[in-house]
Amino acid sequence: MIKLKKKSHHRLTLQILIGLALGAGLGLLINAFGWQSSVFVKDFLTGGVFHIGGQVFLRSLQMLVVPIVFISLVCGTAGLGDLQQLGRIGGKTLVLYLITTALAVTTGLIVAGVIDPGMGFDLNTAADFQAAEAPPLVDTLIQIVPKNPIESFARGEMLQIIFFAMSFGMAMTLAGKSGERVLLVFNDLNDIVMKLVGMVIRISPIGVFCLIAKVFADQGFSAILPLAKYFFTTLFVLIFHLFITYSSLLKFVGKLSPVMFFRKFYEVMVFGFSTASSNATIPVTLEVVERRLGVKKIISSFTVPLGATINMDGTAIMQGVATVFVAQAYGVELTMVQYMTVILTATLASVGTAGVPGVGLIMLSMVFQQVGLPVEGIGIIMAVDRLLDMVRTAVNVSGDAMVSCLVAKSEGQLDQAVFDEDPLSEQLA
Ligand code: ASP
Repeated sequence: MIKLKKKSHHRLTLQILIGLALGAGLGLLINAFGWQSSVFVKDFLTGGVFHIGGQVFLRSLQMLVVPIVFISLVCGTAGLGDLQQLGRIGGKTLVLYLITTALAVTTGLIVAGVIDPGMGFDLNTAADFQAAEAPPLVDTLIQIVPKNPIESFARGEMLQIIFFAMSFGMAMTLAGKSGERVLLVFNDLNDIVMKLVGMVIRISPIGVFCLIAKVFADQGFSAILPLAKYFFTTLFVLIFHLFITYSSLLKFVGKLSPVMFFRKFYEVMVFGFSTASSNATIPVTLEVVERRLGVKKIISSFTVPLGATINMDGTAIMQGVATVFVAQAYGVELTMVQYMTVILTATLASVGTAGVPGVGLIMLSMVFQQVGLPVEGIGIIMAVDRLLDMVRTAVNVSGDAMVSCLVAKSEGQLDQAVFDEDPLSEQLA
């Protein structure tokens, strides 16, 4: 197997960060000088080079999601050979995902309750918002079972793919010799798709640069000003949850070093940030969680795609803060029961939120409807949602990885030596 030399890996990491910084700098410059409306910038940069570069990169990542989830989950499930353990892993993962999300939205509500971001907000800046239908939860549950797996693959229905892959993997275990032979093929396929991930990661500095430059050129910071209090409250809670809550869980529950976790995982956070899609980030999350944080495939192949689909702590935080903000802007006093309802619905909404850009905002209408807030209120915060979406996606993917580490540790499926290896001296496959 070709090894990516540690030096070239560090060079790549540095290049990704440079891509991020240059993209942000150039985008902000374009926006600050109002160049985004000039023909050259519109046709050749934001609508041309940046758009093409960004989309090609994004689509290359998306291209890998379905094959990787299927192949690695089949390998993970079939390699386990113990259905009881599988049930235990599933149970732990689900409970941890739900608890961390409930914790996230609660923190959002408490901090927003203290800061009062919506007090004295001028509602005249509100934009029109057409509420989209949020899918009912019962349907989401029934539809976990695919009628036609090929259709699930074609549509990228993650929960259905997870369900089919796990059933397939279990059947392979039960099939004895035939299952063993097919597992060899799947293991080889897995090596090949991981190589593909490596190839996409190599072009990521350019992709990240293009995506970020376009967003910042289009958005700038001017949209934030009227909503600064909402924006920074949400940002504060996102950062708090990321560094305080996750670090505490890693340290006290998992007995793992949070510093080591973030030193290795921040690269994936950059991917989450620039793509604003947990789904598109799955291939890179899997790569880092398995090869650098030492989580065995048995765990990660299940926890990572499931987390990218149902675990959205960052989204839940935004929904908590947004509820308080909009309630205050409309002069609505929320009762204790309504706060409880927000915690419950935001946690469930997070399960139903697909890991693609902007869906968290759509699911917010479900929360608003439950507590009787005007859905048009979502129009107010739309202006700053893209930037917050990027940050909350970075939090979402970190939550998936953190829970993967905790579950792996508790199951004896975490390679401590790999986790503890200094990122400056490690080698990547
Ligand atoms: N963009 C988020 C994600 O992919 C979902 C959202 O909050 O809109 O994780």
